[in-house]
Amino acid sequence: MVEQHASRTDRREWLRTAARWSALGGLGVLGVGLVARGGDCRTDADCCQCYLFARCGLPQADDARRRTQR
Ligand code: SF4
Repeated sequence: MVEQHASRTDRREWLRTAARWSALGGLGVLGVGLVARGGDCRTDADCCQCYLFARCGLPQADDARRRTQR
């Protein structure tokens, strides 16, 4: 009984730790994305090939979206 309780507690703690690290990773990715598109575009990539294209609000991305809609 005590071992089952300890096992459940360990599992919960492991899940909490995994959730924390996942959230931290998500924040890191978000931070990198914000830095990459903050102010000026710092990539040499074509906007249509850029992983930020869907969320990017820079004028270059807007132009690329207009070009692809034609
Ligand atoms: S979508 Fe275009 S403007 Fe925006 S970060 Fe990417 S390459 Fe730069």
